[in-house]
Amino acid sequence: MSDTFRALLLSRDEAAGTRAEIRDLDESQLPEGDVLVDVAWSSLNYKDGLAITGKGKVVRDWPMVPGIDFAGTVRESASPDYRPGDPVILTGWGVGERHWGGFSQRQRVRSEWLVPLPEGLSLRDAMVIGTAGLTAMLCVMTLEEAGLEPGAGEVLVSGASGGVGSVAVALLAGLGHQVAAVTGRPEGADWLRHLGAAEIVPRETMTEPPRPLESQRWAGAVDTVGGVLLARVLAELRYGGAVAACGLAGGHELHTTVMPFILRGVSLRGVDSVMCPRERRLRAWERLVRELPRERLDAIAQEATLEELPRLAQEILAGRVRGRVVVNLGAS
Ligand code: NDP
Repeated sequence: MSDTFRALLLSRDEAAGTRAEIRDLDESQLPEGDVLVDVAWSSLNYKDGLAITGKGKVVRDWPMVPGIDFAGTVRESASPDYRPGDPVILTGWGVGERHWGGFSQRQRVRSEWLVPLPEGLSLRDAMVIGTAGLTAMLCVMTLEEAGLEPGAGEVLVSGASGGVGSVAVALLAGLGHQVAAVTGRPEGADWLRHLGAAEIVPRETMTEPPRPLESQRWAGAVDTVGGVLLARVLAELRYGGAVAACGLAGGHELHTTVMPFILRGVSLRGVDSVMCPRERRLRAWERLVRELPRERLDAIAQEATLEELPRLAQEILAGRVRGRVVVNLGAS
């Protein structure tokens, strides 16, 4: 590869707001870190949509190379943990927000943010899973820790056509759970059934503000939407049920009552992938390799180039991206 490489660079202009341009960079422009990576694949997550469009205050330092995750091959390393040629994954730790991220053919990062690519996974599949898929797995682990077992009853997944949602549907179904998928896109029902959903729940049936307690329906839930929908899920959880809340695609507020907690013993558990401790991440990646049916990954993935990201950033915020977008950096 030549001495320059391509990256999507965000800059901020007081008058025009956030500007996204593809630029040729060289290594002297990269941030400090002990590992230099040839990035093969990145992926588009909701947060990247907020960063590229400037619609959310995600970027904390300017200029910024966005991209909250990537998979690639170590090019240079000053860390005893990695050697040139090692395949690695990075998700979270503020990369693409505070530190330059994955929408670049080369990136320099801190070795403690990396995890080795698990055996049996390609760099591309690592990014089909990406931050969204890792988060879905962390949600599943959180529900299991709350006592959820296959056969306990229906498990609801909201924002089911999105990145986190689609991987959660495939994972939970693969583990033997009966999955109910909430979607605002009825035209995607067959695709969700193909991923493993047993029931399709129209979004509008979940967005009516709930009474303190509704009929008990769900043994557990993965919620990527927040707002009224999460309030309704809480009111509809079965006795002892739990919801793993990780997202706010529908809003960050939550108006609820203590009733489901004190009368049905339900629990609301938060899930964060960004600062998630290393041991838990490694366990989650191990499980993703073993437990996420590989043929379902193919159904979830679509490929994009750097040039397409500004348009796709608008699309993901509008809820029009289905499944996962992997970004081909061409450095594989
Ligand atoms: P996507 O945009 O891929 O998916 C979100 C889905 O939510 C959409 O596809 C849509 O699904 C649904 N949706 C969109 N807008 C609304 C709305 N107004 N009301 C109800 N549902 C809506 O995003 P991701 O899957 O990448 O992320 C989902 C959420 O999870 C985001 O808020 C993101 O920030 C958060 N997240 C959190 C992480 C963490 O560590 N806690 C990590 C990764 C993501 P459908 O059309 O099927 O209804």
